[in-house]
Amino acid sequence: MPSKFAPARRIPDSPRARQTVRRAGAALLTCALTAAVAAGCNTFPQPPGGAGATSGSPASGTWTFPLLTTQAAIRRGSQTATGQFETWCYTSLTNCHHDYNAADIMAPTGTPVLAPVSGVVVMTRTAPSNKCMGLANRGDQISIKGDDGYAYYLGHFLMGSLRVKTRDRVTSGERIAQVGTIGNAQCTVPHLHIQQNPAGDYGGQKNAFNIQPILVKLFHMLPS
Ligand SMILES: [Zn+2]
Repeated sequence: MPSKFAPARRIPDSPRARQTVRRAGAALLTCALTAAVAAGCNTFPQPPGGAGATSGSPASGTWTFPLLTTQAAIRRGSQTATGQFETWCYTSLTNCHHDYNAADIMAPTGTPVLAPVSGVVVMTRTAPSNKCMGLANRGDQISIKGDDGYAYYLGHFLMGSLRVKTRDRVTSGERIAQVGTIGNAQCTVPHLHIQQNPAGDYGGQKNAFNIQPILVKLFHMLPS
């Protein structure tokens, strides 16, 4: 459900290099085009290993695309209050998050969020109140210590939708929450934020890896 606030406003965590299509069906802009136009799309801090370093390619089968969705739904994205759709840069293997290595995957409110890997929940919390259009709202977040040796942070959940708690084990593909419009994603389109860091670094920005290659690969494995 789109925000009741119109027009949607960007705040520091709003997606940056993202595509926008009109409901009427204007041509879809590719992320590459957006990146070429949007200065700074590739100026994010690089992870250990240098420019373009990725997570080390976890063994096949251990990762799940972190949303229960379809390729068509991802291509459609999620809708602002003004009727525009915005989408995750599913065509890009390089980072297109607005500031550091992470991914904002646009999806309608209520879309189930899945554990990307098996592991142990090390943190769940409700984001601090974040005022938007004069209203205070909050949203849920989670950190997972993955069995693959990496740390994961996911956020912008519908508040109250978290189905797991700290110290729970989660299995790759398990439903853990729902996409929301609140938390610090408020005033933007509904989306899931996900990032992958070295072990023990939950939610850090400086050392986050470029997870686009993994996510794009999994996107192509989703039902059409
Ligand atoms: Zn984000």
